[in-house]
Amino acid sequence: MMPKIPSWLANTMEKVISNKIYQVEVVGINMLNSNLKCVTFKGDFFDANFMPGNEVLFRVNANEYRHYTLSGFDEANETCEVIFYLNKQGPGHSLAVNIKKGDQLKLIADGAKVKYDEEANQHFFFGDETSLGLYESFGKKVMHEDVEYFGVLELMEENLSAVNQLKLLIDTVPADVNSPAKNAINWMDNMHPICWEMWRNATFYLTGRAKSVQAFKKYLKQKGVSFRQIITAPYWEMGKIGGG
Ligand SMILES: Cc1cc2nc3c(=O)[nH]c(=O)nc-3n(C[C@H](O)[C@H](O)[C@H](O)COP(=O)(O)OP(=O)(O)OC[C@H]3O[C@@H](n4cnc5c(N)ncnc54)[C@H](O)[C@@H]3O)c2cc1C
Repeated sequence: MMPKIPSWLANTMEKVISNKIYQVEVVGINMLNSNLKCVTFKGDFFDANFMPGNEVLFRVNANEYRHYTLSGFDEANETCEVIFYLNKQGPGHSLAVNIKKGDQLKLIADGAKVKYDEEANQHFFFGDETSLGLYESFGKKVMHEDVEYFGVLELMEENLSAVNQLKLLIDTVPADVNSPAKNAINWMDNMHPICWEMWRNATFYLTGRAKSVQAFKKYLKQKGVSFRQIITAPYWEMGKIGGG
């Protein structure tokens, strides 16, 4: 979906896809730190059929929508959660930073572009702050199966410790904005060779900053990982409006 469209079209579209639009209430807010806001929404989700990695859209002003990912959902209690990274820049940030308990919002349910690979026994996650929701939901799925996961996130220095609260078994490295994925690639290079051998058949999920996804994919290719093992979804890039 285009992130920016005329408001008349946005209104019409909402009517056409109204079966996928949920009126939700904010019932919980948990700040992982001052930049990462985990929000719980309650709505009539009994028929939503959410799946791990489910994406949602919020209308952030008259003409624009932004994509986010469900970090969790509980259809019995009709709740779902999103982890917003407060990037201090766009209208998505303004919406997220102002969300408070009791607010009423419209949540548009989308599909999952990044799907959990049911065939894989090993799942490797690479990303950044915007990937936390996806990997939190995949992490929960992995716990229900007899499979393994592992990964590395490149995060702004001030967010490195916040991730500990999520109980995600993923390592973190500081992001170098001028050299996308560089520190994560160094971290991979420092891994014991036996790890490469053990993780030979893993599925690799790469999300977050577009240039980091690109650089990490190139690196994996050089290491002999095949294309069919790599799932990519660029979520944002510096200077680009609307994510994706
Ligand atoms: C499928 C999908 C799922 C996503 N899931 C999540 C999610 O669960 N949580 C989440 O927080 N985000 C998620 N994102 C990313 C989010 O949609 C983008 O970061 C989006 O650009 C935020 O909109 P905005 O209005 O704040 O900024 P925009 O108006 O889009 O951009 C304004 C400026 O901010 C910069 N910017 C945008 N994002 C970042 C960032 N992360 N770091 C630094 N600068 C940035 C842009 O380069 C631009 O210069 C997802 C994106 C996609 C495509």
